Amino acid sequence: MNIILFGPPGGGKGTQAYNIVKNFNLINVSTGNLLREEVKKKTDLGNEVKSLIKKGILVSDVIINDLIKKVLSNEKYQNRIIFDGFPRNLNQAKNLDFLLKKYNQKISCVFSLQVDKESIVKRLIGRQNCSKCGLIFNKFYNPADKSDHLCDPKFLLKRSDDNEKTILSRFDTYLNITFPILNYYKKQNLLHEINGMINIDQIFKEIQRIMVSLDA
Ligand code: AMP
Repeated sequence: MNIILFGPPGGGKGTQAYNIVKNFNLINVSTGNLLREEVKKKTDLGNEVKSLIKKGILVSDVIINDLIKKVLSNEKYQNRIIFDGFPRNLNQAKNLDFLLKKYNQKISCVFSLQVDKESIVKRLIGRQNCSKCGLIFNKFYNPADKSDHLCDPKFLLKRSDDNEKTILSRFDTYLNITFPILNYYKKQNLLHEINGMINIDQIFKEIQRIMVSLDA
């Protein structure tokens, strides 16, 4: 089964991807994480995209499509993918369909997490990512403590694009460029809209309920 987690920045995609990975035999493919890895390793690609990520500007479709092609052509990922943060525009969605066909795969469903702008800003301002285990916390609403986070607090980092100016620009990009592609998936009967403002466990229960009802 391949699924798409769709939603605004800070909509909870990373958190739910983590829950899905723990409970299903799937692999999280976050294009944002793949790009940040390149930045960390200071590769040519990383150097090329670093300032775009910092400013919250989408990187080129050529770069993204190339990353996705590497994933889809890799047997390890065959029918086991959670797409997180991809596709971000119609061109990427169409290219995904082209590649899925080429590698004899399909999308089983698209979960769209709905969260309002005010909550997004509050969530992202307080977001902390553990650079060691990958867990995501929030300084205000869901602070890491010893019962749910075993790594040293020094690994909890704020992302370079989680500042108010960039958050607002990322949200605008989401509304104007990314959100419209939901229609593309609605027409294919793949779309499941989820209230992303209820608590994390309840959201996951809803996702789980839908996933177990799908054939593959
Ligand atoms: P994310 O971790 O999904 O919030 O992505 C962080 C940043 O990485 C975005 O603001 C973009 O600069 C870049 N990025 C991630 N995924 C994509 C994508 N599918 N298309 C274009 N840019 C992306």
